[in-house]
Amino acid sequence: MDAIINYFEHIPSSHRSMILIGGLTFFFLLENAVPLFKKKYNKVSHTGLNIFFTLTTILINFFMAFMLVNTSDWVVAEGIGILQWTSAAPWVALVFGFMLMDFLGAWLAHYIEHHVKWMWQFHAVHHTDQNVDTTTANRHHPGESVIRFLFTMAAVVIVGAPMWLVFLYQSASALLSQFNHANVAMPDWLDNTIRLVFCTPNMHRVHHHYRQPYSDTNYGNIFSFWDRIFGTHQVTDNSKLIYGLDTHMTEREANNVGALLKLPFDGYRDHIEYTEEEKL
Ligand SMILES: [Zn+2]
Repeated sequence: MDAIINYFEHIPSSHRSMILIGGLTFFFLLENAVPLFKKKYNKVSHTGLNIFFTLTTILINFFMAFMLVNTSDWVVAEGIGILQWTSAAPWVALVFGFMLMDFLGAWLAHYIEHHVKWMWQFHAVHHTDQNVDTTTANRHHPGESVIRFLFTMAAVVIVGAPMWLVFLYQSASALLSQFNHANVAMPDWLDNTIRLVFCTPNMHRVHHHYRQPYSDTNYGNIFSFWDRIFGTHQVTDNSKLIYGLDTHMTEREANNVGALLKLPFDGYRDHIEYTEEEKL
């Protein structure tokens, strides 16, 4: 365990980039080998668009990283946050600190983004993707990248997270997101087993169905139990899923960089009323 802590305490940014690119490449290859949906779409332009939003996310995280490092150093030095108040042993920090970072920085942040209208306007860009695959994981409007960054910072303060925990969490979070967005066909037994603890592609897919209430379920990123605990867990027949966002289904609204960058400022659009026949 000391080795893990030591590694993430001094992880070079080149390694962090490699984790991101390595994960993306791995799931990209896997999707081509065993795709779930074999729908034909222009992978080059789809990937190009999502990589554009991945790069803006990386840039924002890069330029704001010093704030995260300063915040973490500050909470540790001043003894602020749950792990510091309880003088938690390293293994407690590793297990519970990691779980709490996932809850506050991902599940709760994501839940709030779906329920606060102006935040939803930014998060909607992620949901406009009509061909969800591993590249969708980082398709975030730059404004959402800032929102998520601020949630992560708040989580660092509440948890009292040392920097090694933040780096470990961020690396795992990126990999799990690439995994649960991947368009891979996994045998049910395998998906169901992993899903007992972690969010799998089968679990996350329904979150990308184009209609509510389905898009308001399965918010999890790393651990699957937050959705079970808070009653937002949903199991559905994934063969009938339609990806995208009912309010933004045209080619331009879903696939144009300029239109997507402008989307949060276009005004809130209400979801279309859901009917019983549309039940999955
Ligand atoms: Zn969402």
